[in-house]
Amino acid sequence: MASKDIERIADFILDSDSVVVFTGAGVSTESGIPDFRSPGGIWDKYDPNDFRYEVFINDPGEYWKKRLEMRKMGGFDFSGAEPNPAHLAIAELEELGKLSSVITQNVDNLHQKAGNKDENVIELHGSNKRVRCLECGSLYPAEMAWDKAEKGELPPKCECGGVLKTDTVLFGEPLPREAVKRAKSEAENCDLMIVVGSSLVVYPASSVPQISKKTGSALCIINLQPTNFDSIADVVIHGKAGEILPKIMDRVKKR
Ligand code: NAD
Repeated sequence: MASKDIERIADFILDSDSVVVFTGAGVSTESGIPDFRSPGGIWDKYDPNDFRYEVFINDPGEYWKKRLEMRKMGGFDFSGAEPNPAHLAIAELEELGKLSSVITQNVDNLHQKAGNKDENVIELHGSNKRVRCLECGSLYPAEMAWDKAEKGELPPKCECGGVLKTDTVLFGEPLPREAVKRAKSEAENCDLMIVVGSSLVVYPASSVPQISKKTGSALCIINLQPTNFDSIADVVIHGKAGEILPKIMDRVKKR
Protein backbone atom coordinates (compact mmCIF):
# COMPACT_ATOMS: atom_id res chain seq x y z
CA MET A 1 0.00 0.00 0.00
CA ALA A 2 1.44 3.33 -1.06
CA SER A 3 2.19 5.54 1.94
CA LYS A 4 2.08 8.49 -0.48
CA ASP A 5 -1.64 7.83 -1.02
CA ILE A 6 -2.26 7.56 2.72
CA GLU A 7 -0.50 10.90 3.10
CA ARG A 8 -2.63 12.43 0.33
CA ILE A 9 -5.90 11.34 1.94
CA ALA A 10 -4.67 12.69 5.29
CA ASP A 11 -3.91 16.01 3.54
CA PHE A 12 -7.39 16.11 2.03
CA ILE A 13 -8.88 15.56 5.50
CA LEU A 14 -6.74 18.27 7.05
CA ASP A 15 -7.74 20.73 4.30
CA SER A 16 -11.41 19.86 4.63
CA ASP A 17 -14.12 21.38 6.82
CA SER A 18 -16.80 18.84 6.00
CA VAL A 19 -15.90 15.24 5.30
CA VAL A 20 -18.58 12.77 4.30
CA VAL A 21 -17.73 9.07 4.56
CA PHE A 22 -19.75 6.74 2.35
CA THR A 23 -19.62 3.12 3.46
CA GLY A 24 -20.68 -0.26 2.12
CA ALA A 25 -20.55 -3.84 3.28
CA GLY A 26 -16.72 -3.89 2.93
CA VAL A 27 -16.27 -1.69 6.00
CA SER A 28 -17.83 -4.45 8.10
CA THR A 29 -16.16 -7.58 6.69
CA GLU A 30 -13.35 -7.24 9.24
CA SER A 31 -16.07 -7.40 11.92
CA GLY A 32 -16.98 -10.84 10.60
CA ILE A 33 -19.98 -9.79 8.49
CA PRO A 34 -19.62 -11.06 4.91
CA ASP A 35 -20.29 -8.64 2.05
CA PHE A 36 -22.54 -9.53 -0.86
CA ARG A 37 -20.26 -9.86 -3.82
CA SER A 38 -16.82 -11.01 -2.63
CA PRO A 39 -16.10 -14.75 -2.92
CA GLY A 40 -17.76 -16.42 0.09
CA GLY A 41 -20.09 -13.41 0.35
CA ILE A 42 -23.79 -13.54 1.16
CA TRP A 43 -24.90 -14.19 -2.44
CA ASP A 44 -22.76 -17.34 -2.53
CA LYS A 45 -25.03 -18.75 0.22
CA TYR A 46 -28.45 -17.23 -0.41
CA ASP A 47 -30.66 -16.38 -3.36
CA PRO A 48 -31.15 -12.60 -3.73
CA ASN A 49 -34.65 -13.28 -5.14
CA ASP A 50 -35.75 -14.38 -1.66
CA PHE A 51 -35.06 -10.83 -0.52
CA ARG A 52 -37.44 -9.05 -2.86
CA TYR A 53 -40.05 -6.68 -1.50
CA GLU A 54 -42.82 -8.40 -3.49
CA VAL A 55 -41.87 -11.75 -1.92
CA PHE A 56 -42.40 -10.20 1.50
CA ILE A 57 -45.69 -8.53 0.54
CA ASN A 58 -47.06 -11.68 -1.13
CA ASP A 59 -46.57 -13.78 1.99
CA PRO A 60 -45.06 -12.01 5.03
CA GLY A 61 -45.58 -15.08 7.23
CA GLU A 62 -43.56 -17.29 4.88
CA TYR A 63 -40.85 -14.61 4.60
CA TRP A 64 -40.48 -14.37 8.40
CA LYS A 65 -40.47 -18.19 8.64
CA LYS A 66 -37.57 -18.46 6.18
CA ARG A 67 -35.66 -15.65 7.88
CA LEU A 68 -36.19 -17.35 11.24
CA GLU A 69 -34.76 -20.60 9.86
CA MET A 70 -31.74 -18.70 8.49
CA ARG A 71 -31.27 -16.95 11.81
CA LYS A 72 -31.30 -20.25 13.69
CA MET A 73 -28.52 -21.46 11.38
CA GLY A 74 -26.53 -18.33 12.16
CA GLY A 75 -27.23 -16.63 8.82
CA PHE A 76 -28.02 -12.93 8.73
CA ASP A 77 -27.78 -12.53 12.50
CA PHE A 78 -24.99 -10.09 13.12
CA SER A 79 -26.24 -8.66 16.39
CA GLY A 80 -23.06 -9.82 18.17
CA ALA A 81 -20.68 -8.12 15.70
CA GLU A 82 -18.36 -5.44 17.03
CA PRO A 83 -16.90 -2.39 15.26
CA ASN A 84 -13.45 -2.92 13.73
CA PRO A 85 -10.57 -0.41 13.42
CA ALA A 86 -12.16 1.08 10.26
CA HIS A 87 -15.38 1.98 12.09
CA LEU A 88 -13.35 3.34 15.00
CA ALA A 89 -11.24 5.52 12.69
CA ILE A 90 -14.41 6.97 11.14
CA ALA A 91 -15.77 7.69 14.63
CA GLU A 92 -12.47 9.47 15.38
CA LEU A 93 -13.07 11.78 12.42
CA GLU A 94 -16.27 12.87 14.14
CA GLU A 95 -14.44 13.41 17.45
CA LEU A 96 -11.95 15.64 15.64
CA GLY A 97 -14.82 17.77 14.32
CA LYS A 98 -14.07 16.93 10.69
CA LEU A 99 -17.00 14.68 9.89
CA SER A 100 -20.23 16.02 8.50
CA SER A 101 -21.92 12.62 8.21
CA VAL A 102 -21.54 8.94 7.47
CA ILE A 103 -23.77 7.78 4.64
CA THR A 104 -24.01 4.03 4.86
CA GLN A 105 -25.56 1.25 2.82
CA ASN A 106 -25.08 -1.03 5.80
CA VAL A 107 -27.82 -2.12 8.13
CA ASP A 108 -25.58 -3.40 10.94
CA ASN A 109 -25.52 -0.36 13.26
CA LEU A 110 -21.72 -0.65 13.64
CA HIS A 111 -21.01 3.04 13.00
CA GLN A 112 -23.19 3.98 15.95
CA LYS A 113 -21.63 1.19 18.03
CA ALA A 114 -18.19 2.64 17.18
CA GLY A 115 -19.24 6.03 18.56
CA ASN A 116 -20.72 8.00 15.67
CA LYS A 117 -23.77 9.92 16.80
CA ASP A 118 -27.05 8.50 15.56
CA GLU A 119 -28.01 11.80 13.94
CA ASN A 120 -24.77 11.80 11.91
CA VAL A 121 -25.37 8.38 10.38
CA ILE A 122 -27.61 8.32 7.32
CA GLU A 123 -28.84 4.77 6.74
CA LEU A 124 -29.79 4.50 3.06
CA HIS A 125 -30.88 0.88 3.38
CA GLY A 126 -32.40 1.07 6.85
CA SER A 127 -31.33 -0.88 9.92
CA ASN A 128 -31.79 -4.43 11.11
CA LYS A 129 -32.01 -3.08 14.65
CA ARG A 130 -35.59 -1.98 14.02
CA VAL A 131 -38.87 -3.31 12.64
CA ARG A 132 -41.61 -1.14 11.20
CA CYS A 133 -45.36 -1.62 11.16
CA LEU A 134 -46.59 -1.51 7.59
CA GLU A 135 -49.97 -0.23 8.79
CA CYS A 136 -49.28 2.59 11.29
CA GLY A 137 -45.51 3.11 10.75
CA SER A 138 -44.58 2.48 14.42
CA LEU A 139 -40.99 1.41 14.99
CA TYR A 140 -39.95 -1.28 17.48
CA PRO A 141 -36.66 -2.95 18.43
CA ALA A 142 -36.13 -5.91 16.09
CA GLU A 143 -35.67 -8.31 19.03
CA MET A 144 -39.33 -7.82 19.95
CA ALA A 145 -40.42 -9.10 16.52
CA TRP A 146 -37.94 -11.99 16.57
CA ASP A 147 -39.29 -13.05 19.98
CA LYS A 148 -42.82 -13.04 18.59
CA ALA A 149 -41.73 -14.98 15.50
CA GLU A 150 -39.90 -17.55 17.64
CA LYS A 151 -43.11 -18.07 19.62
CA GLY A 152 -44.90 -18.85 16.37
CA GLU A 153 -46.44 -15.44 15.55
CA LEU A 154 -45.79 -15.46 11.80
CA PRO A 155 -45.75 -12.75 10.68
CA PRO A 156 -45.23 -10.83 13.91
CA LYS A 157 -47.79 -8.06 14.32
CA CYS A 158 -47.91 -4.56 15.72
CA GLU A 159 -50.28 -3.51 18.55
CA CYS A 160 -52.52 -2.07 15.83
CA GLY A 161 -52.70 -5.46 14.10
CA GLY A 162 -50.47 -4.39 11.18
CA VAL A 163 -47.71 -6.64 9.82
CA LEU A 164 -44.16 -5.92 11.05
CA LYS A 165 -41.27 -5.83 8.60
CA THR A 166 -37.58 -5.50 9.37
CA ASP A 167 -36.73 -1.85 8.70
CA THR A 168 -34.23 -2.76 6.00
CA VAL A 169 -34.71 -2.03 2.31
CA LEU A 170 -35.47 -5.14 0.26
CA PHE A 171 -34.81 -5.41 -3.48
CA GLY A 172 -37.55 -3.60 -5.34
CA GLU A 173 -38.44 -1.46 -2.32
CA PRO A 174 -37.99 2.32 -2.46
CA LEU A 175 -35.22 3.82 -0.35
CA PRO A 176 -36.30 5.89 2.69
CA ARG A 177 -37.08 9.29 1.19
CA GLU A 178 -35.71 11.42 4.02
CA ALA A 179 -32.39 9.51 4.08
CA VAL A 180 -31.97 9.91 0.31
CA LYS A 181 -32.71 13.63 0.52
CA ARG A 182 -30.18 14.12 3.32
CA ALA A 183 -27.55 12.00 1.53
CA LYS A 184 -27.88 14.09 -1.63
CA SER A 185 -27.60 17.32 0.28
CA GLU A 186 -24.55 16.05 2.21
CA ALA A 187 -22.92 14.94 -1.05
CA GLU A 188 -23.54 18.35 -2.64
CA ASN A 189 -22.23 20.32 0.32
CA CYS A 190 -19.20 18.35 1.51
CA ASP A 191 -15.70 19.20 0.38
CA LEU A 192 -14.35 15.66 0.70
CA MET A 193 -16.07 12.32 0.17
CA ILE A 194 -14.31 9.13 1.25
CA VAL A 195 -15.83 5.88 -0.02
CA VAL A 196 -14.98 2.88 2.14
CA GLY A 197 -15.75 -0.74 1.27
CA SER A 198 -18.35 -0.44 -1.44
CA SER A 199 -18.39 -1.97 -4.90
CA LEU A 200 -20.51 1.05 -5.90
CA VAL A 201 -22.77 -1.08 -8.05
CA VAL A 202 -25.98 -0.85 -6.04
CA TYR A 203 -28.00 2.01 -7.51
CA PRO A 204 -29.19 4.61 -6.45
CA ALA A 205 -26.91 4.57 -3.39
CA SER A 206 -23.85 4.40 -5.64
CA SER A 207 -24.78 7.72 -7.28
CA VAL A 208 -23.99 9.59 -4.04
CA PRO A 209 -20.18 9.72 -4.55
CA GLN A 210 -20.76 10.80 -8.14
CA ILE A 211 -22.92 13.71 -7.00
CA SER A 212 -20.20 14.91 -4.64
CA LYS A 213 -17.57 14.77 -7.36
CA LYS A 214 -19.80 16.64 -9.82
CA THR A 215 -20.47 19.37 -7.27
CA GLY A 216 -16.78 19.98 -6.67
CA SER A 217 -15.68 17.85 -3.72
CA ALA A 218 -12.59 15.69 -3.68
CA LEU A 219 -13.25 11.95 -3.90
CA CYS A 220 -11.14 9.23 -2.28
CA ILE A 221 -11.91 5.51 -2.52
CA ILE A 222 -10.64 2.81 -0.16
CA ASN A 223 -11.74 -0.63 -1.34
CA LEU A 224 -10.27 -4.09 -1.59
CA GLN A 225 -11.13 -4.45 -5.28
CA PRO A 226 -11.38 -1.89 -8.07
CA THR A 227 -14.72 -0.05 -8.40
CA ASN A 228 -16.44 1.53 -11.41
CA PHE A 229 -15.68 4.97 -10.04
CA ASP A 230 -11.92 4.59 -9.51
CA SER A 231 -11.28 6.57 -12.69
CA ILE A 232 -13.02 9.72 -11.38
CA ALA A 233 -11.46 9.57 -7.89
CA ASP A 234 -8.61 11.80 -6.74
CA VAL A 235 -7.02 9.02 -4.69
CA VAL A 236 -7.75 5.29 -4.78
CA ILE A 237 -6.29 2.76 -2.36
CA HIS A 238 -6.96 -0.94 -2.89
CA GLY A 239 -6.63 -2.64 0.48
CA LYS A 240 -8.28 -3.42 3.79
CA ALA A 241 -10.19 -0.56 5.36
CA GLY A 242 -9.32 -1.73 8.89
CA GLU A 243 -5.62 -1.38 8.08
CA ILE A 244 -5.68 1.76 5.94
CA LEU A 245 -8.05 4.06 7.82
CA PRO A 246 -6.18 3.89 11.17
CA LYS A 247 -2.96 4.77 9.30
CA ILE A 248 -4.65 7.77 7.71
CA MET A 249 -5.98 8.90 11.10
CA ASP A 250 -2.49 8.53 12.64
CA ARG A 251 -1.17 10.95 10.02
CA VAL A 252 -4.05 13.35 10.59
CA LYS A 253 -3.49 13.40 14.36
CA LYS A 254 0.29 13.85 14.06
CA ARG A 255 -0.04 17.14 12.20
P1 NAD B 1 -20.73 -5.12 -2.03
O1 NAD B 1 -20.75 -6.50 -1.47
O2 NAD B 1 -21.31 -4.89 -3.37
O3 NAD B 1 -19.23 -4.58 -2.07
C1 NAD B 1 -18.39 -4.62 -0.98
C2 NAD B 1 -17.00 -4.15 -1.44
O4 NAD B 1 -16.20 -4.07 -0.28
C3 NAD B 1 -16.32 -5.08 -2.43
O5 NAD B 1 -15.97 -4.35 -3.59
C4 NAD B 1 -15.08 -5.58 -1.71
O6 NAD B 1 -13.93 -5.61 -2.52
C5 NAD B 1 -14.90 -4.54 -0.63
N1 NAD B 1 -14.31 -5.05 0.62
C6 NAD B 1 -14.53 -6.23 1.24
N2 NAD B 1 -13.83 -6.29 2.38
C7 NAD B 1 -13.15 -5.12 2.47
C8 NAD B 1 -12.24 -4.59 3.43
N3 NAD B 1 -11.87 -5.27 4.52
N4 NAD B 1 -11.76 -3.34 3.22
C9 NAD B 1 -12.10 -2.63 2.10
N5 NAD B 1 -12.94 -3.10 1.16
C10 NAD B 1 -13.47 -4.32 1.35
O7 NAD B 1 -21.42 -4.19 -0.94
P2 NAD B 1 -22.07 -2.74 -1.06
O8 NAD B 1 -21.35 -1.91 -2.06
O9 NAD B 1 -22.25 -2.25 0.31
O10 NAD B 1 -23.51 -2.95 -1.68
C11 NAD B 1 -24.31 -4.05 -1.46
C12 NAD B 1 -25.39 -4.00 -0.42
O11 NAD B 1 -24.93 -4.78 0.63
C13 NAD B 1 -25.76 -2.77 0.28
O12 NAD B 1 -27.04 -2.47 -0.10
C14 NAD B 1 -25.80 -3.15 1.78
O13 NAD B 1 -27.06 -2.76 2.30
C15 NAD B 1 -25.73 -4.60 1.78
N6 NAD B 1 -25.01 -5.33 2.84
C16 NAD B 1 -24.82 -4.80 4.08
C17 NAD B 1 -24.12 -5.51 5.03
C18 NAD B 1 -23.95 -4.91 6.39
O14 NAD B 1 -24.83 -4.21 6.86
N7 NAD B 1 -22.80 -5.12 7.02
C19 NAD B 1 -23.57 -6.76 4.71
C20 NAD B 1 -23.78 -7.28 3.43
C21 NAD B 1 -24.50 -6.55 2.49
